[in-house]
Amino acid sequence: MTMATLTTHLLVIGGGPGGYVAAIRAAQLGIQTTLVEGVALGGTCLNVGCIPSKAMIHAAQAYAHATHGDYMGISVSGVQLDLAKTLSWKNGIVAKLTGGVGALLKKHGVKVVNGWAQLIDGKTVEVAQPDGPLKIQCQHLLLANGSQEVELPFLPFGAGGGRVVSSTEALAFTEVPKQLVVIGAGYIGLELGTAWRKLGAEVTVVEAQPRILPAYDAELVKPVAASLAKLGVHTLLGHRVEGLNAAGDALTVRDPQGGLIELPADKILVAVGRRPRTQGWGLERLMLDMAGGAVKIDAQCRTSMRDVWAIGDLTGEPLLAHRAMAQGEMVAEVIAGQKRRFEPASIPAVCFTDPEIVVAGHTPASAEAAGFKVKSAMFPFAANGRALSLEAPEGFVRVVARADNHLIVGWQAVGAAVSELSASFGLSLEMGARLEDVAHTIHAHPTLGEAVQEACLRALGHALHI
Ligand code: FAD
Ligand code: NAD
Repeated sequence: MTMATLTTHLLVIGGGPGGYVAAIRAAQLGIQTTLVEGVALGGTCLNVGCIPSKAMIHAAQAYAHATHGDYMGISVSGVQLDLAKTLSWKNGIVAKLTGGVGALLKKHGVKVVNGWAQLIDGKTVEVAQPDGPLKIQCQHLLLANGSQEVELPFLPFGAGGGRVVSSTEALAFTEVPKQLVVIGAGYIGLELGTAWRKLGAEVTVVEAQPRILPAYDAELVKPVAASLAKLGVHTLLGHRVEGLNAAGDALTVRDPQGGLIELPADKILVAVGRRPRTQGWGLERLMLDMAGGAVKIDAQCRTSMRDVWAIGDLTGEPLLAHRAMAQGEMVAEVIAGQKRRFEPASIPAVCFTDPEIVVAGHTPASAEAAGFKVKSAMFPFAANGRALSLEAPEGFVRVVARADNHLIVGWQAVGAAVSELSASFGLSLEMGARLEDVAHTIHAHPTLGEAVQEACLRALGHALHI
């Protein structure tokens, strides 16, 4: 029997934010496109990442407000958490969005093949199907296989009778853990650790580095550290994880002085990073140039093999959904013959902790290191009417601009709901705004955005509200 064969101009492997956006854009441009997805359309982000985590964070915040006692003169009695309902609300959001991705692909005429792809060569892929393997041949091959959790070799997922888990399981605990130990005070550890603390778990976060969120600048992280302490999240910094104890019901950790501590835990969330998914689908057959553990790409997301492209988490840091999407859109346009390069002025990053953190472009330190003389100024939310009326006076907005011509080269903010300021930060950097441009833009009152304007006014030496 001959193997069923499909030919397509563009074959996209992976239906995450990178792959599905590339496929939609390619189809819009009239390119015959096929997308192969082995697990679920929407990838990590929609199914077990960005979206369900933000839903759980929001639910946890609602519960925390309700159980706060007297909050702004409001006290609620008889508050109950029905976790099964919360999970099904979260799953409903995921289903709505992943269903939407399927509908968009269909609407644009993308052929979707469900199944795990194995590369044969740079133009041929085989996908296991219930009725035998399907061979797909293409002119252009786009690799958007994403990433997977880093496992600690001495603490594999599932160890301790299912106690040791990844973020995927931690988004779907059917009971609030009594004692949750989180390894890693990065994005996932702090986002999910905070959410489960607000839902009632005792949470201890163990971090190898001397501070939480070590990738961010220290000033930005201070309000988050203060909030964790207020919430009662224990943070053990500079501690080394050794493994499970003999009984398998506690995590053994070495403190900075060398002493051993046992942390009893009914769940242990390992959140020590993610790495490109480079194994299990025949990537090695292409012998592509690599950059560390990631597929090496140029400024157009070309790999070292002609007409083989790669985007998103597979191509390494930063592992962010909006970067994957932007790369996917660009690759489709390059294949369609447009002149495009991936050279964003910034890729904003948001950490959905409480309070939230946003960074875009340079910090004062990174700008100086890059050789710019800069001026920077911060405006505190304690002087912003909207922040006070939201009961969220913590945090600030900081702008970084070149000293000579006032070109804005970076933004940082920490505070409640500052994730939404990332749009204004990204836009000002992309448009090449100067301090005067933002300072002279009327920002609606009362909004958190006024802190953006005031930071620029302050950098110019004439802030109005501080
Ligand atoms: P993925 O989303 O990983 O998609 C890859 C897809 O390819 C998967 O569906 C996989 O099944 C499929 N695939 C792989 N190999 C094959 C094969 N051989 N055959 C068929 N299919 C295959 N980022 C943000 O920007 N903001 C956030 O708030 C955020 N929160 C996160 C929270 C958590 C808990 C996690 C884990 C991640 C979070 N991220 C967040 C990161 C974000 O999910 C990723 O950056 C994003 O999903 C990367 O998109 P991608 O398309 O490169 O890969
Ligand atoms: P991360 O890189 O953000 O944090 C990992 C943390 O674990 C670091 O602080 C590191 O010092 C620590 N660590 C590493 N090994 C350790 C060990 N043995 N013991 C104790 N601590 C250890 O990684 P993550 O939180 O797993 O997230 C993975 C990726 O997913 C991130 O890089 C991010 O790009 C993406 N993500 C993004 C968002 C967002 O954009 N809001 C949210 C979640 C995840």
